Amino acid sequence: MHTVGQNRIGALARCSSWLARTLWPGSCLVCGAHGRDGRDLCPLCEAAMPWHPHACLRCALPLDQQNAAATTAHDTGSATCASCLSEPPPLVEVRAACTYGAPMDRLAPRFKFHGDLAAGRVLSALMVEAFGSLPRPDAIVPVPLHRSRLRQRGYDQALELARPLASALRIPLLDGVMSRAVATSPQSRLDAADRRYNVEDAFEVRARVDLPAHVVLVDDVMTTGATLHSAAQCLYLAGAVRVDAWVAARVP
Ligand SMILES: [Zn+2]
Ligand SMILES: [Zn+2]
Repeated sequence: MHTVGQNRIGALARCSSWLARTLWPGSCLVCGAHGRDGRDLCPLCEAAMPWHPHACLRCALPLDQQNAAATTAHDTGSATCASCLSEPPPLVEVRAACTYGAPMDRLAPRFKFHGDLAAGRVLSALMVEAFGSLPRPDAIVPVPLHRSRLRQRGYDQALELARPLASALRIPLLDGVMSRAVATSPQSRLDAADRRYNVEDAFEVRARVDLPAHVVLVDDVMTTGATLHSAAQCLYLAGAVRVDAWVAARVP
């Protein structure tokens, strides 16, 4: 329930964000032109983003990259690739706003490794755009960072994406229910087999947390899926019935 104080704070926040948009219209992080509605992305660059093409519902790999036998009707009318048919991954659905092509391949690292939170806001806005029409899950869970990495980086990139996404789509955000039990090596330095081994049992869900049935994991980039799969297994063990993943970009 909202109190009078909360309403006042909300009105103040709306007013100051209107003022900020008027005084400092966003400039496009890709080309430098004026952004739209205070966003840091211009309409032309937004239209030219590598929006995700027709992709496998289970792993989000573009289906045109799979072999010829790689299309089978799914009950939602989408398709599943041959590899996910023969070995179904733990995630029921994976949705990616974009593929990891230009300019996503510059925006995502700027956000993740160089502290550019404006790039993170752009990624989150792209996710709202891409996932807004999907059926709503019961909750969103950002893939957590280990405490030591959080201290180093100063922010949790998955949470920075998940917070505005959850609020725009009006989905409850479960922040802090899952944590990284071990400080794993950065996945970007490892090959596929080592990535799987590196994140095995890396997550834990807080004791006595009641997870809702349908949970969506949120992360910035999906490469092999090892991190998301490990996090999904952990959520299933903690009582989730269905786990999906929504990411800003999928590395093909
Ligand atoms: Zn632009
Ligand atoms: Zn697949």
